[in-house]
Amino acid sequence: MSEIKIPVLDLKPQYEQIKDEVQGAINRVLESGQFIMGPDVKLFEQEVAKYVGVKHAIAVNSGTDALVIGLRALGIGEGDEVITTPFSFFATAESISNLGAKPVFADIDSKSFNIDPKEIKAKITPRTKAIMPVHLYGQPAAMGQIMELAQEYGLKVIEDCAQSFGARYWGTCSSCQGHCQETTLESLRGKFTGAIADVGAYSFFPSKNLGAYGDGGMVVTNDDQVAEIARMLRVHGAKKKYHNEVLGYNSRLDTLQAAILRVKLPYLAQWNEGRRQVAKTYNELLADVAGIITPELADGHVFHQYTIRVLDGKRDKVQQYLGEQGIGSMIYYPVPQDQLPVYQGQYPKMPVSDLLGTEVLSLPIWPEMASENMAVVVNVVSGVLE
Ligand SMILES: *Cc1c(COP(=O)(O)O)cnc(C)c1O
Repeated sequence: MSEIKIPVLDLKPQYEQIKDEVQGAINRVLESGQFIMGPDVKLFEQEVAKYVGVKHAIAVNSGTDALVIGLRALGIGEGDEVITTPFSFFATAESISNLGAKPVFADIDSKSFNIDPKEIKAKITPRTKAIMPVHLYGQPAAMGQIMELAQEYGLKVIEDCAQSFGARYWGTCSSCQGHCQETTLESLRGKFTGAIADVGAYSFFPSKNLGAYGDGGMVVTNDDQVAEIARMLRVHGAKKKYHNEVLGYNSRLDTLQAAILRVKLPYLAQWNEGRRQVAKTYNELLADVAGIITPELADGHVFHQYTIRVLDGKRDKVQQYLGEQGIGSMIYYPVPQDQLPVYQGQYPKMPVSDLLGTEVLSLPIWPEMASENMAVVVNVVSGVLE
């Protein structure tokens, strides 16, 4: 293994930009002595709610907890079915299974990598209670059609926004083919992911677009009752301290992380724009390379990952060559959720998701990435495929 020349993600330039502010915020919390549910937590919740345009934001310990608490606040439990994408990080399906509910997978759209609304419809049964789309790689899922289906069948919708903080839905999702423009699109146009459905769940894992320096997550909703339940579940199921009403969790966001995230939030739009520029440059540099498919520069996409498809079984070879040149790359995700050992044998194969699992390759991306570095990456990729 050669020395890393271009990592898959470099958080150092961002830290350089905000170092003084972050250290000021950390010192302020250390001096306040309020490490659990200090004032920064509430302020951060208010700032996120305002930013994404929702009534309530409830800070929790991780993106995974945001999904679990969000699902429970929507009343999902034992025996319920939740339709979701096979093509995501396991926290998505795990949150459903951990509640005794059943993840039902619907295959994805090969252009957007996101759940295909046509496939969702075919999976609805009398036990279906909710749909959990994931805005994978930072690209909004086909929310127009998903909200339409939910309305038609009386289902809840919870958005997994772990990779999409700051992404906005403009109705240009490739699987919509304009259909959703007929009905729900107008009311959704321009909304932030997370603010569209009944519940949105964010992750502040350090590598996410809005990343903490540790774990963190957020549940957002416009529903007063859902918010009240989520707040209660976060602190051991108690509305009033020591008067626990239901089994809950210890899932608070640290005050330190809230203070750091408050410093970062005002920069997010700039950073997301930086990611879009990187994606645009990659697309230009890769335009003439045969044997790959580059991602669409869809409106509102915030490129948590820049993911290409490498065709003809050459993906692993490309990744190996990149590694040999000291260039980081990742496969998100080599095994779709439905085919993981934990669910072995329980689910039928999904042709699109299974195929993309063998083709996807995420190239280095971060907001400040220099175009010279992109050129180096592209040269190696094109060199292998020549
Ligand atoms: C990161 C991630 C999660 C989990 O977030 P954590 O904060 O790590 O718990 C859930 N879903 C998706 C799609 C993710 O990428």
